[in-house]
Amino acid sequence: MDLVIRNARVRGQAELVDIAIDKDRIAAVGQASVGKAGQEIDAAGSLVLPGFVNLHLHADKSLLGEVMRPNVSGTLPEAIEITNDFKRKYDPTEVADRASRVLDAGVRNGTTFFRLFADVGTIGGLLAAQGLLLARERFKHLCRVQVVAFPQEGIFRDPGAAGLLEEAVKQGCDVVGGLPWYEYTDEDARKHIDVCFEIAKRHDLDVHMLVDDTDDANSRSLEYLALKTMHEGFHGRVVASHCGAMAAYNDVYAAKVIDMVATARITISVNAHINLVCSARLDREPRRRGIARVKELLARGVNVISSQDDVNDPYYPFGKPDQLEVALMMAHTAQLTLPHELEQVMDMVTVNAAKAARLTDYGIASSCRADIVVTDAPSVHEALRLQPIRKHVIKDGREIVRTSITQELRKSSSK
Ligand SMILES: [Zn+2]
Repeated sequence: MDLVIRNARVRGQAELVDIAIDKDRIAAVGQASVGKAGQEIDAAGSLVLPGFVNLHLHADKSLLGEVMRPNVSGTLPEAIEITNDFKRKYDPTEVADRASRVLDAGVRNGTTFFRLFADVGTIGGLLAAQGLLLARERFKHLCRVQVVAFPQEGIFRDPGAAGLLEEAVKQGCDVVGGLPWYEYTDEDARKHIDVCFEIAKRHDLDVHMLVDDTDDANSRSLEYLALKTMHEGFHGRVVASHCGAMAAYNDVYAAKVIDMVATARITISVNAHINLVCSARLDREPRRRGIARVKELLARGVNVISSQDDVNDPYYPFGKPDQLEVALMMAHTAQLTLPHELEQVMDMVTVNAAKAARLTDYGIASSCRADIVVTDAPSVHEALRLQPIRKHVIKDGREIVRTSITQELRKSSSK
């Protein structure tokens, strides 16, 4: 045995367990039944999770906040405008350097799988995609990375984008993105989805779109995406991010669409903290929160995840990135505070996200890939509440992060 993590608190198990790792796989999970190994880690009763999964991160734009002008309106359109100024002069190495800083921070916080969105369109061409593919290569020993070819300026609003999407896929992008709600008309939004599916089918790739990311109750692209997913037999292969218009839909229409989403087995990525900042900027009071109907989605059995989305960029000035922080904000925003709801929140950054990425060897169980994070808290509740350090991060059976802090509270007044 190469590595054993002892005294681990694993979700769903009453007693502490030992996790034995052989090469890049978990060999066994059990109680004190595991022999000596080359390396031993004592989790000391802390919660041990499979590595976090972040399926929505605009790493090409990350950290532009360090150099950009402020987003005065706080809206998505102004964020897009600011980003375009940078995109015209992107250099793949510079994009990769910024993305690398974000991946580095994410790995230190226990994320071992990332899906990075690369803007592809006539303004920046393939420069962002090439930068993120370079970052993927740099980080291949530290985390798994997928790159999404993402038409940030639309497909029909940006003639030429469809050909560039196809080319981005040929150059190595793993997933086909989309932004149908951004088109000028419903008809163009539907055609946008059709184009994305044609590319996905040609290259046998999964689809991950940003859908109905608007306060407009009439935004209808999630409905068509669900229909298209069913017609094309893409059940379980599509993620729809944001879907904030769901908050504005009337209740009858929302129930219909949620039912379609469940039938199509579409995953909804509710990056609630981003919508909390960017949505409903035109509202007077009471101000909407503009996030998808999380509890209704969960009640219908929809696979719901949450992702970092933005890190100090024109859309959002924060983000460490840390999926535990994302989960905490999700708990607040969707009002998921009961014990079983905290478990649901943790699922959104672990098993649900892994399911959306179709990772079949994910988890803390025998034969799963040994991508593991050892927290410094004894339970899911305490991990969310305390946002503790990640004492160890294991990737493919190898310890890649070790964290400790020293802090002293000096109670005595005597010297
Ligand atoms: Zn996004």
